[in-house]
Amino acid sequence: MLMSPLELIRSLPNKVCPECGQLIEEQAESYLMECDRCLAKKEE
Ligand SMILES: [Zn+2]
Repeated sequence: MLMSPLELIRSLPNKVCPECGQLIEEQAESYLMECDRCLAKKEE
């Protein structure tokens, strides 16, 4: 049985930034794979 997207998200473990290992808080822009700090670095 397929899970709805919401259920799928809830079942996933917390995302962790692959750059620094910091836990990424859930946010609307869930496509982001890195934490705010690492994203800010890349924009420089
Ligand atoms: Zn990071």
